[in-house]
Amino acid sequence: MPEKYTWPNPDGLYCKSYCPLHPEVHNVVFDLVDEICSVFEADAFHAGMDEVFYIGHDSCARCAGLDKAELYANEVNKIANHLARNNRKLWIWGDRLIDGKTTGIGMWEASMNNTHRAIDLINKDVTICDWHYDRPDQTAVYFAIKGFSVVTCTWKNGKNAVVQLQDMVRFGQQATDELAPRYQGMMQTVWSGANSFLDKFYDTKPAIAESETECFKTLFDEIGNL
Ligand SMILES: [Zn+2]
Repeated sequence: MPEKYTWPNPDGLYCKSYCPLHPEVHNVVFDLVDEICSVFEADAFHAGMDEVFYIGHDSCARCAGLDKAELYANEVNKIANHLARNNRKLWIWGDRLIDGKTTGIGMWEASMNNTHRAIDLINKDVTICDWHYDRPDQTAVYFAIKGFSVVTCTWKNGKNAVVQLQDMVRFGQQATDELAPRYQGMMQTVWSGANSFLDKFYDTKPAIAESETECFKTLFDEIGNL
């Protein structure tokens, strides 16, 4: 990282990635994953793997020129296989597996660097967390048809969360017996600290209209109405 990091910057550097082909990187990654799983007694691990903008970079002696979708998929599979050895499942965000250009979904919630073709290369037992915070994009259907269990993730727009929940339910109802169980439901994401989320949750002051807490409450009220 540059000494003084600003965003946006001329290099387009938003966040760092590790080199998936570095011969020693998985000694560190797997130790971390195993320790976290063991401490939390987890049978599933969310590895993130979202917003990977730097992969197969031209300045990497190992990765330059390699297929970015293959590099990404191989890394996902490597972590999934490692977890499977201890009967644990891998969850990841879905954004790198959606074609940002064709869908118009763009560079944040989808991929503009050709990683989206990895969707046909990764293990089908990886659970996809399909996050859409500004629009209720219906990409859950895409993931289910590709063979993945999928969870639609929302953030602070309660109106969207309700549409996403209703979509999720409808997708399951209208699906074949093969596809129906892949629609796994909804996830409320919280990007502030747990403390501030809980403080706001129990706060008696009038809530801010668009917030994680209000979205969570709206979503759960709607679940109660199902
Ligand atoms: Zn590399």
